[in-house]
Amino acid sequence: MSFSFKKPYIFLFVAFFFFKNSISQSDYFQQKVDTYIEVKLNDLEHSLSAYEEIVYTNNSPHSLDSIIVHLWPNAYKNINTAMAKHDVESGETKIRFAPAEQRGYIDSLDFKSDNKRLKWHYYKDNIDIAVVHLNQALKSSESIKISTPFYVKLPKGIFSRLGHIGQSYQVTQWFPKPAVFDKNGWHPLPYLSQGEFYSEFGSYDVKITLPENYVLGATGDLVNGEEEIDFLLHKVKETDSIKNSGNYNMYDLSFPESSKNLKTLHFHQENVHDFAWFADKRYHVLKGEVELPESKRKVTTWAMFTNNEFDLWEKSIEYLNDATYYYSLWVGEYPYNHVTAVDGSISAGGGMEYPNITVIGESYSAYSHDEVITHEVGHNWYYGILGSNERVNAWMDEGMNTYAELRYMEQKYKKDDISMSAGLLSIDNLGSKGLMNLAYQFNAKRNQDQPIQMGASLYTPMNYGSIVYGKTGIGFHYLMAYLGEELFDKCMHAYFDKWKFKHPGPDDLQQVFEETSKKNLSWFFHDFIKTTKKIDYKFQCLKKESDDQYKLKLKNNTGFPAPISITSINKTNNESHTTWIEGFIGDTSLTLSSSIKPTHFIIDESNQSMDIDKTNNVISTKGILKKQEPLKFAFLAGLDDQNKSKIYYAPLLGWNAYDKLMPGIALYNTLIFEKKMEWLIAPMFSIGNKSINGTAKFNYHFYPKQIASKITLGYKGSSYYQGFDAGEKQERWIKNEIRTDVKFKEKSIRNSPLHNLSLKAIRIDDHILSGNFIDPPETENQTSYFGVIDYTIKNKQFLTPKSISLRYIYGQNITEQLVSSFSLTGNYRLNYNSDLKGIELRFFGGYNFYTLNTRYGFFMKGQDGFSDYLYERTYLGRNKYFPNALSQQSSISHGGFKINTPLGISDRWILASNIKVEIPKIPIGVFADIGSYPSILITSSGMQNKVNYLFNSGMYFSLKLNKKEILGVYLPLLYSKNIAETYSYGQSIETINDISFLQRITFIINFNEINPFQIIKNIAP
Ligand SMILES: [Zn+2]
Repeated sequence: MSFSFKKPYIFLFVAFFFFKNSISQSDYFQQKVDTYIEVKLNDLEHSLSAYEEIVYTNNSPHSLDSIIVHLWPNAYKNINTAMAKHDVESGETKIRFAPAEQRGYIDSLDFKSDNKRLKWHYYKDNIDIAVVHLNQALKSSESIKISTPFYVKLPKGIFSRLGHIGQSYQVTQWFPKPAVFDKNGWHPLPYLSQGEFYSEFGSYDVKITLPENYVLGATGDLVNGEEEIDFLLHKVKETDSIKNSGNYNMYDLSFPESSKNLKTLHFHQENVHDFAWFADKRYHVLKGEVELPESKRKVTTWAMFTNNEFDLWEKSIEYLNDATYYYSLWVGEYPYNHVTAVDGSISAGGGMEYPNITVIGESYSAYSHDEVITHEVGHNWYYGILGSNERVNAWMDEGMNTYAELRYMEQKYKKDDISMSAGLLSIDNLGSKGLMNLAYQFNAKRNQDQPIQMGASLYTPMNYGSIVYGKTGIGFHYLMAYLGEELFDKCMHAYFDKWKFKHPGPDDLQQVFEETSKKNLSWFFHDFIKTTKKIDYKFQCLKKESDDQYKLKLKNNTGFPAPISITSINKTNNESHTTWIEGFIGDTSLTLSSSIKPTHFIIDESNQSMDIDKTNNVISTKGILKKQEPLKFAFLAGLDDQNKSKIYYAPLLGWNAYDKLMPGIALYNTLIFEKKMEWLIAPMFSIGNKSINGTAKFNYHFYPKQIASKITLGYKGSSYYQGFDAGEKQERWIKNEIRTDVKFKEKSIRNSPLHNLSLKAIRIDDHILSGNFIDPPETENQTSYFGVIDYTIKNKQFLTPKSISLRYIYGQNITEQLVSSFSLTGNYRLNYNSDLKGIELRFFGGYNFYTLNTRYGFFMKGQDGFSDYLYERTYLGRNKYFPNALSQQSSISHGGFKINTPLGISDRWILASNIKVEIPKIPIGVFADIGSYPSILITSSGMQNKVNYLFNSGMYFSLKLNKKEILGVYLPLLYSKNIAETYSYGQSIETINDISFLQRITFIINFNEINPFQIIKNIAP
């Protein structure tokens, strides 16, 4: 399967069951499964009626009482299958919300042997795995023939790999198929979209019956297929003439009527572990031939495609031939007679591999068409011939295949041919390898990567691409650069020869590579493959010992002895020389001779080792500040440059009611890739106050190995103006905050809940009103100090995200205590359709141990600018009072009521709950809030404690970015009587009925969620 980086994503279930019981780690053995199927396609109801016979040969030293058989079409049957659940975890909800008519299944099973019925049942809760009990135990070295009819309702081809789009059929993972039984026991694998297969080798003999005007591509060679070959050759002629005339309509994807006459095509193949077929009446056909490099044997290549990307498919025979040639050259000779690629819009990645035949999704460009075809054809080697357990060791097929694919693309295309640019990042011409390295670096730099050796189902979707494919693919290039191409190819050929048509595991691969290269490669096969240790070498110092001798001191921050290359470079005449040195741990000194009078030494000059910090990889032979790099300014965002320290800049424009327009500039050292030390300064000039405002930030990240995955020490300072009374008097406020954030280690990055602890010490210098509302009001300076502890637990469930936050705040100014309060916020969301529309529930409970005045209390309405005493949010008019419209800006905090009143301020406790129901398709919903708080009622008989109950509901409009509300406008329509009665702002208004409907509205702008720094930090790993 190919992995697409086009998507900008940039998710307890263990899919692998070991039956370790009494089986000893005996010598290697391999079962044989020969399969015979007769199948008939019904293209009106999109179903298959079939009869199957399996000859199962037990080459194991054990007797078998039962055989585990996969029934993978049942993965599409309901929302409780392993695939449906795993897809939802990955954020893919199509199958979860699909109507029954779009789903698929397998039934009509009746397993028999010797005409006697066999008992069978599902394996545990998996309806896509069966345990078939044999009437007599199958002894070692005996065979048994098992037969069954079966019926498959094909699902709509939008979920995973099996299905139909109209009358285009992708018939894959479609028949009852025994699981692998090897030295580790049975391997029952529920079908998954992320995570592939493990199957027994054997022969396939399949007869397919369908209307005769279908073009059919399949695993295996046609038996007595002269008539069908003539039919295909006629199609080739037609296709050639369309090619020459250019006379096709890419938008015409209509299906011709099915012929009344049926044909039966018979396919046969030896030494394969799967059988797939693809049928489409619209296919154009091209045929080619490639001569294999070693034996000069000729292999036929076929391409079958629709009008959709006809222009790209025109050249597909070249890609099929080249891929077959180079994989034969680099890995081992292709043992079958044909290689076929068919056009299909499958939903699991850009393409999918089966023996002899691959299906290719939309490619959009010739470059990526070649890349996807080559990748999928390449799976004939890494999967097809070298049949590793893909579910457990996905890197041995996807990753090693990516190595060869990248080598092919680098050899065939010059960097300039590749127009893969991410405009804003100014990273043109990176090539596929560079792009994959970036994807790896994005998560590795923030310590959210996962090891290469791990079960496929345990990866986050992003890491499945950037680790299994990317890090492995680039890693094998690193190993090749270290061993040298010739020795590396020798190792790969030795691996192919020893393990073709077998089930190699990681140890088998390591053993062949070490035996052939006569080197200890545990740094690669253990540290690089099985851990998340990063590679980071740096220069410490350099001493010139003689004219051509340099003493270099290096440090390995890596923790494992990975070999590295050191290049001496003479920048004046562009000469360079590269030496590989064996890995070491800690510091080392070495003396290098270089006759080229180097101006610089560079570690890993050609980007082979995936070094995590390229900024310490260069040292100059001249000057005192040998490691000092010149500064370079760059717009917005980019990549680290090993020769220059980059400072990024971006223009800013801000506005608030007091500072008015504020042009400014943000200067920072990184936007996309996390750095240990990060800083940002963003000065802004206030046109209103003729002053410099702005924000400055500094973060230092640690990545401890135990308990926490990241600890951040940070400082943030910000200062702007606020006003009092209609904005006449303006005063500066200054906030200084130091914080420690602890992101606790998760058991699984994919699905364990997140635990975060944050400790903050905050100093606020602002002004408070000292007198009454006179004009201009008198204000006095206040310096206040706060300590805040936040603890948040958040799950990663895509359909039902929930979180709990606990908060304690202590605050005082120079003379007195201001606040001591505790609060708990709970959030729960239930997404009810595939557009992720949902119902949201929120709960808030707060208790004040002490408050000096109402500003530090709890508010039934969320905090506004005035009550946001920690200056945590951005308000357009921080202290604007009613009736100024800016005073209607609120936040979903505290009681979360959405009605613009000063109702319900509590200096004791508060309880509130909010519900929001989103309406399908439109950005509108309904909301309701309930809450309760105590107050003191002064009556003629004295003071009386009273508990108030409030209610409020209405409609809202909401704009979201990354599933988070960035703008919300809330129209309260119904509210409890006490809200109406307690309404009073200023002197003249007595009840809410005295203000207009528009003035009761509240609005929310979530500035924090539109901050690009925050958006990037929030990207799921
Ligand atoms: Zn693949």
